Amino acid sequence: MAKREKVILRRLPRYEPEKIEGIIREGLDEFGLISKIQGRITIKPNVVMAHHKIAPAAYTRPEFIDGVLSAITSSNGNAKQITIAEKCGAGMPTTRMFRRAGYYRLKHNHKIKLLPIEESKKTTVALQKGKVHETIRTAREIASNDFCIYTPKLKSNALSFGLTAAMKLNIGILCDRERMWNHNHKLDEKIIDLLEVGSPDFIATDAIEISLGGNHLTQHGYPLGIIVQATNAVAHDAVCARILHLDPEKIPHLRIARERGYGPLGLEDIDISGDISLDEVQHTTKEWELGLMDIRNLDCGMEILCGEPYCQGGCHGVVLDWLHMIKDRKPQLWGKLPSWTLVMGKYKGDVSADRVMVIGSCSEIQGKVQARVKRRIKGCPPKHKDLVLWFFLKTGIINPMFRLDLIFDAYPYLFLSWCRRVLKGRF
Ligand code: SF4
Repeated sequence: MAKREKVILRRLPRYEPEKIEGIIREGLDEFGLISKIQGRITIKPNVVMAHHKIAPAAYTRPEFIDGVLSAITSSNGNAKQITIAEKCGAGMPTTRMFRRAGYYRLKHNHKIKLLPIEESKKTTVALQKGKVHETIRTAREIASNDFCIYTPKLKSNALSFGLTAAMKLNIGILCDRERMWNHNHKLDEKIIDLLEVGSPDFIATDAIEISLGGNHLTQHGYPLGIIVQATNAVAHDAVCARILHLDPEKIPHLRIARERGYGPLGLEDIDISGDISLDEVQHTTKEWELGLMDIRNLDCGMEILCGEPYCQGGCHGVVLDWLHMIKDRKPQLWGKLPSWTLVMGKYKGDVSADRVMVIGSCSEIQGKVQARVKRRIKGCPPKHKDLVLWFFLKTGIINPMFRLDLIFDAYPYLFLSWCRRVLKGRF
C-alpha cells in the first residue's frame, strides 16, 4: 500500500515571528524531525523578485524566515551552519533581491550565511531519472546538506498552469543559463527532473499573504492567514493547488511528479491536519482571481497569433506574463496598448497588420506577411528582463518594470556579481 503523506494547515493571520516559530516547531515535532535538525542546514526560500513598489508580494517574507530560523535554533541546538540559498529571477543578481527583500536584516538576530547560488561554489550532479536534464549544476549547499527546508511563497503563476509552491521552487536552484535552457514546452518535465537534487526534508510555506492574479513577480498580495507544512513536495503542492481551486491533475508538473513516483495527488492518500480545514481555506479563496487566461483570448488591444510549439513555460507564457505586469502595475495602459500583432511559435497563415512583432528564436510566420513595421525579439524564451527592454526599444511601451533602480540592479550590479564570480572562479 502506498505511503500516506501528511500536510498540516495552521492558522496565522499576521506575520508575527514568535508565533511563526511556535507553529514551525510544532510542525517539526509532529513530523518527528527535531532530532534530524543538525549539521549543515540549507533553507531555500522564494526570492525570485523583491521590490517595494512593483513586486511587494513575490517573495517569502523575512518575518517568516525569522520565525523558521528561531524554530530551528530553539528546537535543537545541533545546527552547525545555516545557509539561506537562492538564485533570483534570470538576469538579476540575487544579492540585490536579498537586500530588497530585507534578508540582510536577518543577520542581526541569527547566525546565518546568505548564499546567492550564482556566486557559490558549485557541484555537478548526474541525474538518474532526468528526462530533460542529464546533469545539473548547483550550489554545494543545495546538493549536499544534513537537513534541507523549503520555504516557498504560495502564488499563482501563468507560466506553470496556475501554481507556484514547493516543486516550482526548484527552478531557483539553477543559474541563468541552465534555468532558461528548455524553459519552454518542456518546463514541466524540467521542474520534476530537479526534484532528484532539490528534495526538501521539510516544507513550510508562507501563505499568510499569498500572491495572485497576474504576473508572478508583480501581482498583488491577498491575506490568506495560513502556514502549510509537509515533508512530501507533491502532496504539499496538491493541497496548495486545491487551496487555489485548481485541479492538481490538470497542472502538468504535478501530474508528472505523481506519474514519476514522487508522491500522491489524491486526497485519499493525503492526511490533512492542523487547526483550519481545507474547506474553510477554500471558502476564503473561492472568489479570488487566479489570472489564468489563454493568451489567444486576451482583450488588451494587441492581436495575438500563436503557433506550435505552444510553450506555456516559454514564449507564450512570458508574453502573457509581460502583459500581466502592465495589468498589475499600470492598469491605465492595459486595454490601451498600441495595436501591435504579436506572433509566438510557428504561425501557419498570412498576416496583414500595421506592426508585427515575432517573439522567440524559433517563431516565424509560415505565410505571406504584409506589415509596415516588422520586429523580432530572440530567445528561447526571452528573459523577462529582455522583453521589458526590447519592447521599450522596439515599440516604445514602458513596462512598469522599466525603472531606474531595477536597471541598476540588472546591469551595473549584475556586472559586479559577475566580477565577484570571476575573481573567486565560481562558474
Ligand atoms: S523559441 Fe519560444 S516558442 Fe520556440 S521553442 Fe523556444 S520558448 Fe517555445
